[in-house]
Amino acid sequence: MQLYNLKDNHEQVSFSQAVKQGLGKQQGLFFPQDLPEFTHNEIDELLKLDFVSRSQRILSAFIGEEIPAEQLAERVKNAFTFPAPVSVVENDIASLELYHGPTLAFKDFGGRFMAQILAQIAGDQPVTILTATSGDTGAAVAHAFYGLDNVQVVILYPEGKISPLQEKLFCTLGGNIHTVAVQGDFDACQALVKHAFDDEELKQALHLNSANSINISRLLAQICYYFEAVAQIPVEKREQVVISVPSGNFGDLTAGLLAKSLGLPIKRFIAATNVNDTVPRYLAEGSWQPKQTIATLSNAMDVSQPNNWPRIEELFRRKGWALSELAKGVVSDETTQSTLRELAEKGYISEPHAAIAYRVLRDQLQDGEYGLFLGTAHPAKFKESVEAILGQPLPLPQALAERADLALLSHQLPADFATLRAFLLEKTVK
Ligand SMILES: *Cc1c(COP(=O)(O)O)cnc(C)c1O
Repeated sequence: MQLYNLKDNHEQVSFSQAVKQGLGKQQGLFFPQDLPEFTHNEIDELLKLDFVSRSQRILSAFIGEEIPAEQLAERVKNAFTFPAPVSVVENDIASLELYHGPTLAFKDFGGRFMAQILAQIAGDQPVTILTATSGDTGAAVAHAFYGLDNVQVVILYPEGKISPLQEKLFCTLGGNIHTVAVQGDFDACQALVKHAFDDEELKQALHLNSANSINISRLLAQICYYFEAVAQIPVEKREQVVISVPSGNFGDLTAGLLAKSLGLPIKRFIAATNVNDTVPRYLAEGSWQPKQTIATLSNAMDVSQPNNWPRIEELFRRKGWALSELAKGVVSDETTQSTLRELAEKGYISEPHAAIAYRVLRDQLQDGEYGLFLGTAHPAKFKESVEAILGQPLPLPQALAERADLALLSHQLPADFATLRAFLLEKTVK
């Protein structure tokens, strides 16, 4: 598999290089040179397979010879150890529940696959994973790499801006997992990560590698659950599927659009955001005007400069699709709360991110269409807010309950690169 840098098309790399490097020159994103397509019949055949076998085929269509099929199959099997069920919410709407993995969020799929691929290609070379998280990526990355030889993981997150339980889930591991509470917002964390990747000396010393949604291996893994969703929908509805994606950095939506480009029949995608609505405003007005990031109930989507957006533009350009075909919607915290109550009345307990996707889907779905919204996290990951909104207690799933009583092991740092640099050298270079 060959990929090119979106900021400099002359920079071309193999899949292994793209995974190791994360970003290209000038912080450019990598994008696949070839966009494979399955025929209608091949799609039908794929949809008959089980999740792991189907995912092996999808991933090998992209990755090709570079990782031998048998080894890739083994890696996919190790990564995808939990299901992605479609749960019916009402007549014409269902949720694709992506939160049945070890950290109860969709980022387990990408995080675990990426860890497997890195282990495959790194060999004996020690690497440092440096990533910024607005919540769930951190947990998924930490758990996916925890205990792996030759890998040190450093995770930055905005202090006080992620849920206390989320913090417990990944800041209590220790060992090769180092967590840093940064005095700033998520965009500040992301800027620090970018700065580190621009520092050649540091990059060499640490064999730096990023593991957030910009890594191509994560995106490829996420394509697989869109197929799994359609496979569970009754055959007669498969041509009428509309998928609503709660979006922050827009990795999940990028993966969905890549699934469509492979030939998966999706009638329409909806980009659903909270009031951090840079993309919906861009789609409506045509100009890119990020504003100051605002803290909301759906904190994993509090992103005003979504870093996967250039890939979406490139995919539309390559496929000759019009951006006007991408639907959008913005949901306030107030409406998120009333929507959570509305869903609970229908017997479905959700959480703020998925509720945003449901709201826009419900408002825009037309007669005869079948709607899916992505359930990106388990409701208990947002226990405090969900309990307050619904006025009822939520039991903790075991993975969280076990961690809730452990002490936080995070370091606190200002949003300052020199301080972070010293910290990185001290923690990871042995
Ligand atoms: C990360 C995350 C999102 C946003 O996904 P992107 O790929 O960044 O758009 C939505 N919901 C939850 C719960 C998340 O953790």
